[in-house]
Amino acid sequence: MRLWIKDPLAIFAHRAERGLVVEGTKIVEIVGEGSAPASPVDETFDASCHVVLPGLINTHHHFYQTLTRAHPQAINKELFPWLTALYPIWARLRPEHLRLATRLALTELMLSGCTTAADHHYLFPRGLENAIDIEVEEARALGLRMTVTRGSMNRSQKDGGLPPDEVVQSEEEILSDSERVLKLFHDPKPGAQIRIALAPCSPFSITKALMRDTAALAEQYDCQLHTHLCETKDEEKFCLEMYGVRPVELLEETGWMSKRAWLAHGIHFNAEEIAALGKAGVGICHCAASNMVLASGICRTKELEAAGAALGLGVDGSASNDSSNMMEALRHALMIGRLRYGASGVTHHDVLRWATEGSARCLGRADIGRIEAGLEADLALFTLDEPRFSGAHDPLAALILCGAHRADRVMVAGSWRVIDGAPIGVDLAGLIAAHRAAAAAFS
Ligand SMILES: [Zn+2]
Repeated sequence: MRLWIKDPLAIFAHRAERGLVVEGTKIVEIVGEGSAPASPVDETFDASCHVVLPGLINTHHHFYQTLTRAHPQAINKELFPWLTALYPIWARLRPEHLRLATRLALTELMLSGCTTAADHHYLFPRGLENAIDIEVEEARALGLRMTVTRGSMNRSQKDGGLPPDEVVQSEEEILSDSERVLKLFHDPKPGAQIRIALAPCSPFSITKALMRDTAALAEQYDCQLHTHLCETKDEEKFCLEMYGVRPVELLEETGWMSKRAWLAHGIHFNAEEIAALGKAGVGICHCAASNMVLASGICRTKELEAAGAALGLGVDGSASNDSSNMMEALRHALMIGRLRYGASGVTHHDVLRWATEGSARCLGRADIGRIEAGLEADLALFTLDEPRFSGAHDPLAALILCGAHRADRVMVAGSWRVIDGAPIGVDLAGLIAAHRAAAAAFS
């Protein structure tokens, strides 16, 4: 079936004024001004009221945290006290909670135009050994692409780390379960729906040996590596005291300075570190909302991108955002970027590029993130018919500046997953009711 998405109001693509043609799971043709598809189409979708974007790609999240949004014990705190308040609450997480949290987060992301999501799941209390399996099942049911990161923590308070003893695992347990999920679910081929990445949580919850052995495993199975890095000054201080090095030196010493790795936050780098990260092609996931909520600092997006680093966007976990709206993440990245770089320093084109092509690079994918012939047909379509857009002139700029929140249509791998702003196959009211009930266990 050849579908022509015809005559978009605006589109974030080169020479695609008359739209694009989708066949199977792929974009097969871009239709430029004054042109028509090269061969007949079976169906036409009139996109004259739609702004068409490549599907947005979220490169950092903690789905389980949707159960602890705006938590009274955690609000108005910086990262370390925020974490120590929440760890014991999160330790109550059970499989049925994670399943609902994953379904809710994926649905919420999808409604905002997201077609690929990475989730950093590092919490494996007793009974939740199959957390990764649950996330894969939910992504498959909903039809979104995911990089599910098998997170890990093996340094607890008894070893000088930040998390309590009951939420960490041994290195042996971590590596053997990482291999299990890689063998079961990781698909490195183009067009993959599910990929696995390996993700020791943060310098203050892991050992150096775990970082090194995880990098070796990623090499063996050809998967990406992910962690939190340079989020706060507290973390830098911890690294200097525990390891005698700065966080980026820890990456260098453990085999992480490569295109395989992408880092959440990446705020507190010095100039030499930015140059080294760029040279190595390491990815940085800028989480503007979370960085503002926890008052962590401002990522040096422009310098990192200019140095050669992949620059992507993420909403981060729902206890420090506290929403999972990818369009909002773009707007926040633009706003905070302007505080650092001035009014013309970060444009709507920059944040659209970061949330699509840049995020795809972070996840090690060349098959998604752009509207181009040969790439996967992942699209987000927005209408401008809410009051907030009335009177707007440039439709693409309006999406970001007026604050688009909800996609009208979302396509993943050539199939519509959102139609008229509603997720296909999801009882939204029922899901919210069940998720809200589950959250009661975390009060
Ligand atoms: Zn995070």
